[in-house]
Amino acid sequence: DCGAQIRCRVLLLALGVRWRRLQADGADRFAGAGIYYACTRVETDLFDAQDVAVIGGGNSAGQAVMFLAECCPSRTVHLLVRRTLGPGMSEYLVERIRAAANVVVHEQTEIEALHGDGHLEAMRLRNNLTGAATQLPCAAVFVFIGADPAAEWLPAEIARDAKGFVLTGTDVIASGLWPRSDREPCPLETSLPGVLAAGDIRAGSVKRVGFAVGDGSLAVTCAHRLISINR
Ligand SMILES: Cc1cc2nc3c(=O)[nH]c(=O)nc-3n(C[C@H](O)[C@H](O)[C@H](O)COP(=O)(O)OP(=O)(O)OC[C@H]3O[C@@H](n4cnc5c(N)ncnc54)[C@H](O)[C@@H]3O)c2cc1C
Repeated sequence: DCGAQIRCRVLLLALGVRWRRLQADGADRFAGAGIYYACTRVETDLFDAQDVAVIGGGNSAGQAVMFLAECCPSRTVHLLVRRTLGPGMSEYLVERIRAAANVVVHEQTEIEALHGDGHLEAMRLRNNLTGAATQLPCAAVFVFIGADPAAEWLPAEIARDAKGFVLTGTDVIASGLWPRSDREPCPLETSLPGVLAAGDIRAGSVKRVGFAVGDGSLAVTCAHRLISINR
């Protein structure tokens, strides 16, 4: 931001992703007071024996649902899925959710508005097929609706996939955008020689800490190799 320029032979991009925020009336007002983007033991204890909701159709949402349901069998966990439960989630997780006595699955459903006095107390839902609205009591909503790569500002020479994640290594070769004929890219090298990408920002990476750490180690090897061949 200060406008300084730094010269380097290797640059590593580890920009991560930005998690999508819930777009509903009142979502900003209840951030941290009923709307959460993580589900840990802290939140499950905070809302012990209270009904809660999880939004999302992927594995993160599914894992949160089962965590909340198993921590406290006396609470009802509402799972809100924009389309249908199944396509974006592992089969074993879908089966566990369907079999859980205290989980209610609302398919084709989105949150329209959130209500409460200082803290979340209820949510208004809308059925996407019928347009019907319903109001349910709810102490907390856990949001797992995906993430966008923080890569939109990168120059066009750094190739990305259709979702904006940075291509590296063999994906760069397959895209036909690798510009050099004297060598192939390193496993983490982008289509701009000398620029590496690691972690969540990389196309095809598993969005987990362990994999990001593994990429970090591999990046060191790649950097050493690039420095040695560019001496
Ligand atoms: C709520 C939540 C729960 C999760 N739970 C788990 C879990 O239980 N287990 C698990 O394995 N994984 C979990 N993950 C995923 C895990 O956090 C990521 O896979 C991991 O952090 C990816 O590491 P990263 O270094 O690629 O990106 P990040 O950890 O996201 O780091 C990227 C960093 O780059 C910074 N940045 C972005 N753009 C710029 C810029 N232009 N200039 C300077 N800095 C910039 C960001 O601010 C950020 O600090 C969770 C993620 C979230 C959001």
